[in-house]
This record gives sequence, structure tokens and C-alpha cells, in this order.
Amino acid sequence: MSPKVTAPGRKTLPLLPGSTLGVMGGGQLGRMFVHAAQATGYFTAVLDPDPDSPAGRISHHHLHADYLDSDALGRLSRLADAVTTEFENVPAQALATLAGDVPVAPAADAVAIAQDRIREKAHFVRCSAASGIGCAPYAVIENADHLAAVSADLLPGILKTARMGYDGKGQQGVQTLAELAAAWEATGRVPCVLEKRLPLALECSVIVARGHDGQAVHFPPQRNLHRGGILAVTEVHEQALPPAVAARAVEAARAIADGIGYVGVLCVEFFMLEDGSLVANEMAPRPHNSGHYTMDACDVSQFDLQVRTLAGLPLVAPRQHSPAIMLNLLGDLWFAEGSDQQRDPAWAQVLAVPGTHLHLYGKTEARRGRKMGHLNITGADIASVRAAAAQAAALLGLPDSTAS
Ligand code: ADP
Ligand code: MG
Repeated sequence: MSPKVTAPGRKTLPLLPGSTLGVMGGGQLGRMFVHAAQATGYFTAVLDPDPDSPAGRISHHHLHADYLDSDALGRLSRLADAVTTEFENVPAQALATLAGDVPVAPAADAVAIAQDRIREKAHFVRCSAASGIGCAPYAVIENADHLAAVSADLLPGILKTARMGYDGKGQQGVQTLAELAAAWEATGRVPCVLEKRLPLALECSVIVARGHDGQAVHFPPQRNLHRGGILAVTEVHEQALPPAVAARAVEAARAIADGIGYVGVLCVEFFMLEDGSLVANEMAPRPHNSGHYTMDACDVSQFDLQVRTLAGLPLVAPRQHSPAIMLNLLGDLWFAEGSDQQRDPAWAQVLAVPGTHLHLYGKTEARRGRKMGHLNITGADIASVRAAAAQAAALLGLPDSTAS
């Protein structure tokens, strides 16, 4: 790869260790990016309004300011040699502003597409010839005329706000056109998509890392189980997905990344329907909860590749060395059933189970539904991983949910 010249006086890519990598957002994804960057010898800078953010607290530099604060953006672009983002709701405008001074990956345009379900779906449709797959039948609802024009063929459906939705938030199931009208009213008439509810056989996702030179690598596809709209379990091993489905999902994710000239780590979520077909659900312009297994089951993690794509370092195809199951650890685990009293989950017992790797995000307050950490379970074979996951789940009071 030939080095790229950036602004005068700026370092050129690749940025070698010793440089400073910036990240917009200080949540757990930012924290794991900071860990990966620091482990390789980079300095880090985090911009997040929360003075107590999980990533800010461990970063060399922590700017606590609003994402659109021009003073803070100026300081970040002077501190950092390149900037990435850890969650898609960082205003794309902030990334565009930073890009005037410093390399930014992913680009503001790509993040803007992922932040808006209307643009995201249009992108999936645009890529469908190259990706081989489309998305769920849907209608855009931005005004009363759009609402009146909705076909009953899309019912029963799910009304999703175009922006700011995550973990099932901003979604309402609707059975009838009257329910749809009431649901849209309840959003405050913000732009939405109505999606047909599809018969899902399973959910999966693929993480792709694509460099400045257009070269891309991917991790093995994940099979995901959600509870209450939040990811609960991810499994990655040879039996997790039908091989043809896994191969199609990888091809599609790569085409979706290529289609926007994406630079960085991208996760694409898919549904496999009962008839075996695959549809693209949504994409995240950053590492993803379903990719956390890579931290312990692969020779490089999704955060290592986020560092490499940002720094313009070579990408090598990741190798998964162990079958893996990831259990998400939500704040609910800190409360005994039916009680508001907080207690620590049984970490010592969980860590006595062979192959368990505990990752906690340093959040001081546990709240129900809040992502507090995850537990990766690896082993020599999937039978032992399943047994260990069942044991750990029982110790934590989680349902035994290992799929397939
Ligand atoms: P979020 O941004 O909250 O992750 P998603 O669009 O991924 O939003 O929806 C969350 C979950 O809801 C999905 O993982 C899936 O389980 C379910 N879901 C979403 N859309 C559909 C659909 N069209 N048909 C069936 N289930 C769906
Ligand atoms: Mg989702």
C-alpha cells in the first residue's frame, strides 16, 4: 500500500505505534478499541460528553464535550493522528468536520447511511445485484401521504424509527393499518420504515474489515440469539450455520462494504428465513456486540482490525482457533429475582468453569437491560464449549439458550 499524504504537517498512513488514535464515543466499544490500540503501543484520545465514560476513563486523553462542540473537535483533531467512531449515533456532521483536519474512518457518509434506516435499506437494495440478497419488504413513512399509501401486504409488520434505534428501541409491532397509524402517531410522526414481519429461522451477522486500499478481510459469521430485542447469545463454530448460508452472508457483507467504499470495521446483520433465504437486516459502522467472541476465539479481534484499518496497517485474514459462545451480561444479572437489591454475580464460580473469559466494561451502575459485559467461552470442541456455556449460564441465572 502506498502511503497517503494527509494535511500538511500531518503524519502519513500507515500510522505506526506511538501515534495517537482518536475515537468518538466512550462506551464499551470505545473502551475495547482503546485496549486494543494501547496494547499495540498507540496513544488514545476519546471524545465523550460523560466524564465517567468506560473508554474515557482508560484513555490517555479524554475530552468530555458534546460531539458537535467545535472547540472539542478542534482539540481532538490536533491530538489524534486519525479518528474512528464507536457508535453510529455520533452525528455524521462531527465526523465530516474532523475529516477536514485528520483521516477519519469510517467516513461520515458511511456512518450517515448506517444511522438512518431509510438510507441503509436503500443501500442494501442498491447493492442487491452485487450482494445477491435484498432486505425485508418495507415502506418509508415520512408523512401522512406515505402512511395512507402503505399496502396491507406489509402487515403484520414492525414500525421502526429511521434514526436512533438500537436494541429493539424505537420499534413497534403492528397488526393492522389502524395500529400502524396509531404507532406512527406515537413516534411523534418522525420518519420511519414499516417492515414486514418475516418468519425467521435464525439470525446471523458478519464482520468485515476493509482497508483504505479496498482490501477486505472477514471473520467467520456469527449466529445470534436475541431476547427482548437485545443480543443475548452469539455462537461461532462449524455447526452454527448451514455452510451455504454462511458463505452467502460473507459475500453479501463484503459487497455491502465495497458498495460504499467503506473503510473500517463493519458488521452486517442478516435474517435467515424459514425457506432458507437470506435478507440483510441492518449494518453497524463499527465493531459489534456479536463480534466480541473474536477477542478470545480468533488470532486477531475485531478491535485489533479497527486499529489496523484506522492506522492504514495491513489486514491479514483472521483465523478462528476455537469454537466460541458469547453470553451477553446485562445489568439484570446484578439483581436477585424479584429484588431491587444489587449484588455481584457469581464471578468466582463462573471463572472456575474452564474456557470462560470475563469482560466487564467498568460501568459503576448496573441497570436492567444495560450492557455491563460479556462472557466468552472457548474450548477444544463445540461439545465442551456448550457444556461450559450451560454451566456458566446456570451460575449466572441465565436461561440455557445455546442454539442448534
Ligand atoms: P436494532 O437496531 O434494535 O437491533 P433490528 O432491526 O435489528 O433493530 O431489530 C431487532 C430485532 O428484532 C432483530 O434482531 C429481530 O430479532 C427482530 N426483527 C427486526 N425486524 C424484523 C422483521 N422484519 N421480521 C422479524 N423479526 C424482526
Ligand atoms: Mg439489530
